Amino acid sequence: NEFRLYYQPKRSMKSGQITGVEALLRWQHPELGMILPMQFIPVAEENGLIVPIGRWVLRTACQQSVEWQKSGLPPLNMAINLSARQFIDESLLDDIKQALQDTGMSPELLEVEITETMVMRDVETTVDILKELKSMGVRVAIDDFGTGYSSLSTLKQFPVDSIKIDSSFVQDLTRSIEDRGLTEAIIAVGRNLSLNVIAEGVETSEQYEYLKEQACDEFQGFYGNAALPADELSQLIASLADKSTEPGE
Ligand code: C2E
Ligand code: MG
Ligand code: MG
Repeated sequence: NEFRLYYQPKRSMKSGQITGVEALLRWQHPELGMILPMQFIPVAEENGLIVPIGRWVLRTACQQSVEWQKSGLPPLNMAINLSARQFIDESLLDDIKQALQDTGMSPELLEVEITETMVMRDVETTVDILKELKSMGVRVAIDDFGTGYSSLSTLKQFPVDSIKIDSSFVQDLTRSIEDRGLTEAIIAVGRNLSLNVIAEGVETSEQYEYLKEQACDEFQGFYGNAALPADELSQLIASLADKSTEPGE
């Protein structure tokens, strides 16, 4: 019982409004303190424990979403990260159905984040899984977009809803003409395929202004908010309900 979910807001670039959150796993170790996912997820992925851990993440995120709804918060999109092993696990779709059913979460609020490398391994199977998710009403986002191996012609076949521009492009936006070029290209691909484009790791007002100018749809990052425990997230949303929602204020 040392796992915790933190929730990082996603905000609309135009209005600053919080449109949803991404659930991010933390391990609150009694002696070592807070352990970040990069330190234990690769191990859990290797030994297979990521499957039961991922089930816990899914269930906890669904429960939290329903709790927030019950407490009167506006509907928030809830994104969870799937690992490669979970994505190919044959119980994935059943696990998602079960979690939605048991918690009573509305499927339209759930979004799963997968990476390019995961979906390119076996294109046919991926298309089947994504279609199934779509028919359940669950949304799909491609995480860390631009860093993995993917082909645009294959991307076209995938029924996904969003792409997330990897923070490595965002980081050097104001210094690197190459990163600006790639970011603009990703936004254009997203727009032309009618996908929601989310920039990750936005830390400064310069990055924010640039992405806004390029008509990126949403952003996530310390310039808006870091990931927060559930109670702090609900306090934040409640406090924003009657205030201006300009990020950075
Ligand atoms: P990700 O899905 O791309 O998540 C974004 C990461 O960027 C998070 O790190 C978040 O805390 C961090 N971040 C957010 N805003 C900023 C910013 O402005 N600047 C910087 N430098 N970083 C920012 P975190 O929580 O350490 O997670 C790292 C990765 O671990 C995630 O990358 C995701 O791939 C994986 N992960 C997290 N939770 C889960 C989970 O429940 N299941 C699985 N399978 N993977 C997870
Ligand atoms: Mg993610
Ligand atoms: Mg990412």
